Amino acid sequence: MKLRINLTNVPRCSKAGCTHRALMHRHHTSHQWMWVRAFAIRRSKEKKYRSFVKAYGRFNQKDIVLLCPGHHGEIHELYDDIITRAIYSHHVPLECFSWRQANRLMSSLRSRYLKWKDIETNISNPPTERLEPWGDI
Ligand SMILES: [Zn+2]
Ligand SMILES: [Zn+2]
Repeated sequence: MKLRINLTNVPRCSKAGCTHRALMHRHHTSHQWMWVRAFAIRRSKEKKYRSFVKAYGRFNQKDIVLLCPGHHGEIHELYDDIITRAIYSHHVPLECFSWRQANRLMSSLRSRYLKWKDIETNISNPPTERLEPWGDI
């Protein structure tokens, strides 16, 4: 008897060219978790914060993608660079950002993900990409 394994239903990493098929991570493309932590002090004061946390916890399909651990680490390294530049540009820590500034940073992170995911890479040999310069947010 031949053993057939159907790979069509196995979760796939969303990074182009990645062949990993197991142990996928759920990744929020706008890095919402960062604001859940950074804005935690607003919990009792802001309804907006509470609904943001609820939306994060829903793991809505439009907010998340699957990534293998290696690519999950890679995209977060790219995010860290963008986040650091945003903090320098505003001269305040993340918890002091306005919602408007937070939303702009989230959309920058999401755009970075959308560009990155289509670049075909080999996990053992990630390309050195030049980052887009951080705009004035
Ligand atoms: Zn992530
Ligand atoms: Zn991958």
